[in-house]
Parts: sequence; C-alpha cells; structure tokens
Amino acid sequence: IDNPVLGYRYESTAAASDASAPPAEKYEYQAEVSRLMDLIVNSLYSNKDVFLRELISNASDALDKLRFLSVTEPNLLNDGFDLDIRIQTDKDNGIITLTDTGIGMTRQELVDCLGTIAQSGTAKFLKTLKDSKDAGADSNLIGQFGVGFYSAFLVSERVEVSTKSPKSDKQFVWEGEANSSSYTIREETDPAKLIPRGTRLTLYLKRDDKGFAHPEKIQKLVKNYSQFVSFPIYTWQEKG
Ligand code: ADP
Ligand code: MG
Repeated sequence: IDNPVLGYRYESTAAASDASAPPAEKYEYQAEVSRLMDLIVNSLYSNKDVFLRELISNASDALDKLRFLSVTEPNLLNDGFDLDIRIQTDKDNGIITLTDTGIGMTRQELVDCLGTIAQSGTAKFLKTLKDSKDAGADSNLIGQFGVGFYSAFLVSERVEVSTKSPKSDKQFVWEGEANSSSYTIREETDPAKLIPRGTRLTLYLKRDDKGFAHPEKIQKLVKNYSQFVSFPIYTWQEKG
C-alpha cells in the first residue's frame, strides 16, 4: 500500500520463524529522512559522542510526558515502576541498551516519529543543508543542530526500538539499519522482552564504534549530560 501523503509505503515481509507471530511490515522512510540517514551514516563527523546526549534527551522527554499525564491519570504510575533511565552495555558483543519507563509509542507513533520528519529542529537542519554545497560543512551541521533519534546511526549498524504506550495494549518493535531506505515494525511477541511501559533501544554498534559499549565510557558521557536530566540514570555492565 502506498501512502504518498505520509511518504511511506508498506508491504508484508515473509513471516519470521515464529509462525504464530504477525509478520513484520516494511516501510520506506520519507525522502527527507533517507537523506538525513545517508548524511549521518556516511558523514565524517567525528564527535559521535552526541548520540548518547540525543537518546538520553528523548528518554527524558518521554518520562516528562508520562509524568505530566499522570497528574490527571495517576493510575498510569500504579504499576510499581519508577521513572528512570537504564543503560546497559555488552562490550563483548558491542551492544548498548537504553531503557526508559516513559510514555512509549504506539505503532502509528513509531511511523510518524521514526519514519518522517516532524520536528522543527531537523527540518531546519535539512533546509540549511539544502543551502550549503560543501560536504565538510554538512558534517559540522550535525553537531550544530543535533539530529535527534537518527544520531543513533552515527555509531550503530542496526537499531531496535521496542516500545509500549499506555494507549495500546501491544508492544511494538521498530527496526532500522544504517544504509537502508526502509525499516520494519512488528509486534513484540517474545515474553522475555515485554516491558510494562516505555521504550527500550538496542544499539548494535558498528565495528569501529564498539568501544562505546564499555561502562566506563558510558558513565563518563552520562556524567556530562545527566546534569540536565531530572530523572535517575543507571548504568551497568552485562555479566561476562
Ligand atoms: P525530537 O526529540 O526533537 O522531537 P527526535 O528525532 O529526537 O526529535 O525524536 C523524534 C520523536 O520520536 C520524538 O519527538 C518522540 O515523539 C519520539 N521518541 C523518540 N525517542 C522516544 C522515547 N524514548 N520514548 C518515546 N518517544 C520517543
Ligand atoms: Mg530528541
């Protein structure tokens, strides 16, 4: 089904190993997102650290949104889970997991937020990009504007976003790869991966960036950013 208005197209892909699970659906990024992804993945931008600041700021925004909603709907917080951010590193496999217990996303929100460009910062970034002709300058713009969620691809080969909104009784997984013009969304069916609410990002780091999956590295970066975040951030390391 093509949807020119929202700028995406989806088609069913072959069902995964679990025959009972609904198949993942494939979507094309809006053209602007593809351009942005290209730039991020292929840029020579050296300050890759910023990815963590962007992802922590998204987690913090999601927690803020839930806290705000809970003023009128206190039962949203009755599940016994605190409002916090957890970052886990698996240095042997080069994987970083970042979990928040915030507002999460519905399936439609995944498409709207992580497949199209809605927010003004990134739109401005692309406008500036269009006006500039120098590739080196393009790279510097990444740091100047901040490219939000997509900055995960500064260091990741593949990104998985598993998320549960209070508006939906289902949890969904968004999956995207560097150098791909499409992403997939499927329902989370693995009971071990279900979360009560919020979002878990799994970053499968590029070969040259696996060094980020060290707890000391993450702790150092978190220290720089956490002073602007009003929720606790816990970091720990996968047992070896
Ligand atoms: P911005 O934060 O400026 O809106 P981003 O690219 O960082 O832009 O994120 C895009 C959108 O994706 C956010 O506005 C939000 O709606 C959604 N999003 C990203 N991360 C999360 C998260 N951890 N929890 C809930 N929603 C998120
Ligand atoms: Mg953001």
